[in-house]
Amino acid sequence: MRDLSKFYIDGQWVDPIGTGRAEVINPATEAVSGSIALGSEADVDRAVAAARRAFATWGESSREERLELLLSVQAEYARRSEELADAVTEEMGAPRAFAGQLHVGLGSWHLQAAIELLRGFAFEEQRGATLLRREPIGVCGLITPWNWPINQVAVKVFPVLATGCTAILKPAQLSPYSAQILAEILDAAGTPAGVFNLVQGKGSVIGTALSRHADVDMISFTGSEEVGVQIQRDAAETVKRVGLELGGKSAWVILDDASLSRNVGEATATMMSNSGQTCSAGSRLLVPAARLEEALAASRGAAEAVVTGNPAGNVAMGPVVSKAQFNVIQSYIEKGVAEGATLVAGGPGRPEDLEAGYFVRPTVFLGTNDMAIAREEIFGPVQTIIPYTDIDDAVAIANDSNFGLSGYVSGEDAEVAAGIARRLRTGSVRINGGFDIAAPFGGYKRSGNGREWGEYGFLEYLEIKAVIGAPSAA
Ligand code: NDP
Repeated sequence: MRDLSKFYIDGQWVDPIGTGRAEVINPATEAVSGSIALGSEADVDRAVAAARRAFATWGESSREERLELLLSVQAEYARRSEELADAVTEEMGAPRAFAGQLHVGLGSWHLQAAIELLRGFAFEEQRGATLLRREPIGVCGLITPWNWPINQVAVKVFPVLATGCTAILKPAQLSPYSAQILAEILDAAGTPAGVFNLVQGKGSVIGTALSRHADVDMISFTGSEEVGVQIQRDAAETVKRVGLELGGKSAWVILDDASLSRNVGEATATMMSNSGQTCSAGSRLLVPAARLEEALAASRGAAEAVVTGNPAGNVAMGPVVSKAQFNVIQSYIEKGVAEGATLVAGGPGRPEDLEAGYFVRPTVFLGTNDMAIAREEIFGPVQTIIPYTDIDDAVAIANDSNFGLSGYVSGEDAEVAAGIARRLRTGSVRINGGFDIAAPFGGYKRSGNGREWGEYGFLEYLEIKAVIGAPSAA
């Protein structure tokens, strides 16, 4: 049983002022795995005051000091990586091997990327008569979700440290354990008091207090569209910067020259990883109409091959995060059937061999782009196949969405794939599984604003100052 009863504020593990507690449920067993203290507005005030005090010095720190801290964090992170993976599996149900390789792996890759970037990042640059300075924005409220609990914290906290900002992290109540270990890592690494603070609790209390706080300069949020809108409202009065990474309904376009068994299979298997709880997931699979039967067979085969079960074991897919999430996904599967979509694989209910846990059957529909299952973010292992007639049709379907987070194109002809990528109204497009830890990540349209990862992730936390007429450094 884990008992998280303290917050990390001003370099100390302190007793909360708020008196509430919440249980944490293991989604694979439905049993209580521990509990956390729930903070109050007064806890936020205390953490913000500490972050503000720390900013006075950390905001003036040198590149070398910040590099030294990140390198020290890197050593601690490596030392605690097995514990981090255990925590992720326990709190949100990711298979243990996957949690180690990808959940913990992504955190370490972002950390390495931040270190490399910081070594050469131009905080000052002369442009004609103007000295352009990139200065830390100040005190940042970081509000994160449970779906990639380490990654979502890493893409905020490491740039915060690298750019000289200070922060208060409010992780999701559903995934408090990995956040607690990350705070312990930052503490052990020697993070100066107040530079990083952790307050656990309800989004409606802690998140709202941070968003409205007059002494918080910026909110960086990842999560649902609904909460993103609320945060913008709450932040408006104090005119703070708000970075939003929201939902997606990304299209994965399979070209007609592609090997369908390989590419459709990969697209469906990728959809099911992390139990489909990935904002950039390719939840709409666009296949050439002339090869529909072949595509359906490939997708069905891939979905039925996904071994689902106890995440401690050798499985490809664990449960979804919570009973509420399970119920939402089930209602979408039922809606898909009611709307007249054809079930290609999976369907309602739990896999037959599993008696407890929030397990969902890997589900694929054949549908149309006007159905709710093609328009709304389900955030579960549910993919909708949509046939297209030609490339213009594929692009039109892909762009016919309120979201614009990611896109995928798979096929033999790289020129055709790149041509489609240019036409997609999304923040990123991955061609044939391409991946780059330094590439900017974020969305068009209702998928949010701002960019995380790499250089653009640093710029999120920097103000630009023009000093005109200063003597040139060169
Ligand atoms: P939320 O957007 O509700 O939660 C994300 C974070 O925001 C959590 O830390 C949450 O706290 C906090 N929060 C909740 N309300 C507020 C508020 N009023 N002000 C500030 N912060 C707040 O996501 P859910 O967990 O409810 O997931 C619902 C849906 O959101 C999913 O089904 C999926 O569609 C989408 N989603 C998208 C993600 C993405 O990566 N783009 C990630 C997660 C979800 P608390 O822990 O108290 O809930």
